[in-house]
Amino acid sequence: MTSGGDSPGMNAAIRSVVRSCAFHGIECYGINRGYEGMIDGDFVKMDARSVKGIINKGGTILKSARSKEFRTKEGRAKAHKQLVKAGIDAFVVIGGDGSFTGAMIFNQEYDFPVMGIPGTIDNDIYGTTHTLGYDTALNTVVEVIDKIRDTASSHNRLFFIEVMGRDVGHIALNVGIGAGAEEILIPEEDLGLDRLLDSLRRSKQTGKSSSIVIVAEGDKIGKNVFELKDYVDVNMSEYEVRVSVLGHMQRGGSPSCFDRVLASRMGVKAVESLITGKSNYMVGLKNDIIDLTPFDQAVKGKSKINMELLRVSEIMSI
Ligand code: ATP
Repeated sequence: MTSGGDSPGMNAAIRSVVRSCAFHGIECYGINRGYEGMIDGDFVKMDARSVKGIINKGGTILKSARSKEFRTKEGRAKAHKQLVKAGIDAFVVIGGDGSFTGAMIFNQEYDFPVMGIPGTIDNDIYGTTHTLGYDTALNTVVEVIDKIRDTASSHNRLFFIEVMGRDVGHIALNVGIGAGAEEILIPEEDLGLDRLLDSLRRSKQTGKSSSIVIVAEGDKIGKNVFELKDYVDVNMSEYEVRVSVLGHMQRGGSPSCFDRVLASRMGVKAVESLITGKSNYMVGLKNDIIDLTPFDQAVKGKSKINMELLRVSEIMSI
């Protein structure tokens, strides 16, 4: 099943789970619409051929949903009944930390074997250096910023570009470096408005004709990216300021090769771990090795930004 926000690579992970089951002679069902579909018994039998032609597709063929009912004991009891009725005796959930919390509680209540695969573009999950969809999102966003820079430099404009990342600045930091942004504003670091203005003035004085500032959704300097624009409008009349909020397009598109390979590796690990009797773990990537992290650690732990990248971005924006 896929649950929570969708991300590129979810289909590749579904394909991997289904084919790993077929390889090991295990009967496999897809659960439509996440926990909502689990409660409704919306299951579809899947074999190796039912996942053909999806490795390159964004989104999720099983659809995703957020289920209020699964947060209740009664909802989870209904879900358990449906699983037992269908003869299902383990599940793999592809989603974010909310989905893992749900799986963990379900496991505690019913001793039901569960395994998680991290699928979210924000990369905000502890226990893996990469979540599914993150690499694709970076490539999508860099491509768009390159295009915005074309127009920014033609008109001597300053662009504030808001990218996803409510709690962590992974996307902002990496696309900022990758697309050569002048400043990168992330939730982890409060640069302060004055330092931002100083930095923009310095850029202007050193001959830069346009500027790109990447702002993570969760940046703490202003209330939002439009407030930043207003502040710079008032205090730096030499710049013509524009805002671009990239929004949901960041979640779409065909997964990168990296995400397809990662999804394939994670699916195999999830199924083979369940076969060996493991349960209540999230599959993750650590030092290019596919590893397991207990759900409670994955959910409670914090995904930290790479401080070395922060320094690189500072040096690059001189
Ligand atoms: P994203 O990172 O995209 O937000 P997510 O998996 O964190 O993905 P959530 O909406 O937080 O998305 O969680 C997905 C679903 O998991 C919820 O709709 C709910 O059904 C279930 N869930 C989340 N938290 C709990 C909980 N504490 N108890 C039971 N179920 C939960």
